Amino acid sequence: MRYKLFLITLVVLISSLLTFTSAAAAVGKKNLSIVIDDFGNNMKGTQEMLNLPVKLTVAIMPFMPSTASDAETAWQKGHEVIIHMPMEPKKGKKSWLGPGAITADLEDEEVRKRVEQAIQNVPHAVGMNHHMGSKITENKRIMRIVLQVCAEHGLYYLDSKTTGKSVIPKLAEELQLPYLENMLFFDDVYTRSHIAKQAQLLHTKLDHKEGMIAIGHVGIAGPLMVSVLKEYLPLYQNKVNIVPLSSLIKGREWIVE
Ligand SMILES: [Zn+2]
Repeated sequence: MRYKLFLITLVVLISSLLTFTSAAAAVGKKNLSIVIDDFGNNMKGTQEMLNLPVKLTVAIMPFMPSTASDAETAWQKGHEVIIHMPMEPKKGKKSWLGPGAITADLEDEEVRKRVEQAIQNVPHAVGMNHHMGSKITENKRIMRIVLQVCAEHGLYYLDSKTTGKSVIPKLAEELQLPYLENMLFFDDVYTRSHIAKQAQLLHTKLDHKEGMIAIGHVGIAGPLMVSVLKEYLPLYQNKVNIVPLSSLIKGREWIVE
């Protein structure tokens, strides 16, 4: 009887010790958020990406054929959903932007209306970043409205930094909007060698930075992106916790599910 009791105590002790050490390891590790842009239009690599065994942050374009279904699938699989708001770039055609885009010629009221509608259109979204946008993210008048609407809806904003002159950091601070910055693009060139090179660079950077944010895409390079991530995710996980963007924001009580 005494022996049995001893055994039970031992098992309880060992299992609680194991739980404690694994929890401690999880807390002690640094964080990495991987954001994947351009969902919503049945883009190449969509399902494979959503099936990856880590929690990604999935940026979905509004008003597209698979906006709602991509958001539902992503959410069901435990990924974080954000709105990938199309915004006018300095170069490139307006037609690449897709429906409901923010362009520099819009009046204040129309900007507000489009952002509101985009938020309504993407289920489960807790944040926003932009699609293209090198022109708009330098425009104070427009970005103030975009960020104001985000603040009203309790969303955070991720600056993909498609321009060096973004007005977002200053405005976000002024509006007290939780704000994050992209640090690395995986696939700014659509070749396997480039994506793998960036993935390796990220692996090195994880040793030096407290938290990292990296962006990739579904679409033309989607399948390549998925295959490189499959190779690198276990390596990243040896060094860091892969977490959704909202986990990187301090004092994130404001997030509304
Ligand atoms: Zn995009």
